[in-house]
Amino acid sequence: MEVDQEQFVLRPMNCPHHMMIYSNQPHSYRDLPIRIGEIAHDFRFEPSGTLKGIERGRHFCQNDAHLFVTPEQIKDEVSSVVDLIFDVYKDFGIENYRCVLSLRDPEDKVKYHQDDAMWERAENALREVLTELNISFTEEIGEAAFYGPKLDVNVQPAVGAEYTLSTCQLDFCLPAKFDLTYIDRDGTEKTPVVLHRAILGSLDRFMAYLIEETKGIFPLWLAPVQVKVLPVSEKSNEYAGKVWKELKNSGIRAELDDRNEKIGYKIRSARQDDKVPYMIIVGEKEVSEGTISVRVRATDRTHNDTLPEFIQTLKEQIKNRN
Ligand code: ZN
Repeated sequence: MEVDQEQFVLRPMNCPHHMMIYSNQPHSYRDLPIRIGEIAHDFRFEPSGTLKGIERGRHFCQNDAHLFVTPEQIKDEVSSVVDLIFDVYKDFGIENYRCVLSLRDPEDKVKYHQDDAMWERAENALREVLTELNISFTEEIGEAAFYGPKLDVNVQPAVGAEYTLSTCQLDFCLPAKFDLTYIDRDGTEKTPVVLHRAILGSLDRFMAYLIEETKGIFPLWLAPVQVKVLPVSEKSNEYAGKVWKELKNSGIRAELDDRNEKIGYKIRSARQDDKVPYMIIVGEKEVSEGTISVRVRATDRTHNDTLPEFIQTLKEQIKNRN
């Protein structure tokens, strides 16, 4: 695109950009590992027949990172990537996944960068780390990227085919192509190794997966609206408004439903349409006592509480990602 006599290009991936950032200044072995992470907007001209909702669009946003390491740091770095992947899965409650060591097909001379020694080294390094970490994995020939082998973590969605959610690719090739260097302990110039790391991949596709898996019933920490305040009638609107403000001031994502509707209708709408984890119902009794009535979506039970105590409980649950 030409804008103001300058040329602009939509980028399909971030790797070359992060390589350029690295090469912008000299590095010593003491600086490594250097990690460049980005929530990146990327554009790909996918054929129109393959486009599908937020699962696959021509623009997507991915959480991408490139880790520049010395050969000695590969193991530690891969191991911390693996830790991060499983930490994140725990937060999202993802349990149905499998690890794949994706290797090249040595017979295929077109799909893969030709350098037998490099492949041997990279594949062995990844295999060793996974074995040392006691992670069960399968090896799949012909699934590697052009530049190197990778660890893929695949999930099986409720609907549709298995797909790769997280990936960590070991790359000895791109850093050399970009003439990346660092000064080693002995004063000589060496080429760093790059790990391409994506934990949730395309955030758009991840959202599609998550919505499908949870049927839109998100855990409290993730719910777009965490609490809905429902006054029983107009008489409790003012008190409900105060409760709502207090929740918002405490950092809770709350909404107030003061529509002139029956309370049963408001509860149904909060439960079924908005799938809100907690509802606060306030009537004349709560107004006179200065309390709140809390309805829990998951159990469909109601209990009485004071607002400060309820906020405290919410904050703990959010912090622990319960
Ligand atoms: Zn990359």
